Amino acid sequence: MELIDVVTVDGPAGAGKSATTRELAARLGIEYLNTGAMYRAIALQAIRLGLNLEDVDALERVAKESTLESREGRTFLNGEDVTDAVRAQEISQAVRYPANAPSVRAILVEAQRRIGLERPIATEGRDQGSVVFPDARCKFYLTASPEERARRRLGELRSRGEDEPLDRILEQIIARDKSDMEREVGPLREPEDAIRVDSDGKSIEQVVAEMERAARERLAFLQ
Ligand code: C5P
Repeated sequence: MELIDVVTVDGPAGAGKSATTRELAARLGIEYLNTGAMYRAIALQAIRLGLNLEDVDALERVAKESTLESREGRTFLNGEDVTDAVRAQEISQAVRYPANAPSVRAILVEAQRRIGLERPIATEGRDQGSVVFPDARCKFYLTASPEERARRRLGELRSRGEDEPLDRILEQIIARDKSDMEREVGPLREPEDAIRVDSDGKSIEQVVAEMERAARERLAFLQ
């Protein structure tokens, strides 16, 4: 298998994938791709159109008819920057519908693959190293305990002016882990050839430094 210059970062919700992958991409001088935001954008569009989220054919049509782009780490839905809008709690609740729909996944996987074949990227999600880029030169599996992840999610919500009891967030994180790991297509998996990074008790800086060292050793365009 010929390897390509892609860095994949997979792991459960709240492990710190977005913050670390974004910073890692900046340090390596490559583009950052947030694939969770793509699934979230489909959920956002379905809600805006007033669709039944359980209608997989309707979700597939939304995925087919929407233009999803990633520019400088930001996500655009039909030309609109939805990077911040897709982080709302309502979308976190709804995203499992498009994420669990195999036909939606097929469309988004193809779009992600196209982006990664055009240029070196650091991409984060659930299936990036296992399904989308099995041929990536550098794979990470980033994880942290559910409690630590719940505390981080609460901090993020509060910074957006939203609030929620911590135990409810913890429940949601555990439910999302289960749904992410048990889905039939594109489940969250730790790729065999991935470097495992546990972010419990570590700063973003510490995690990024660890990842940067490994990525610099592996990416061909940096040699
Ligand atoms: O990472 P984030 O929380 O933004 O992801 C939102 C949801 O999108 C996750 O719960 C997961 O179910 C789904 N997702 C996915 N495959 C990816 C990225 C995210 O199924 N590659």
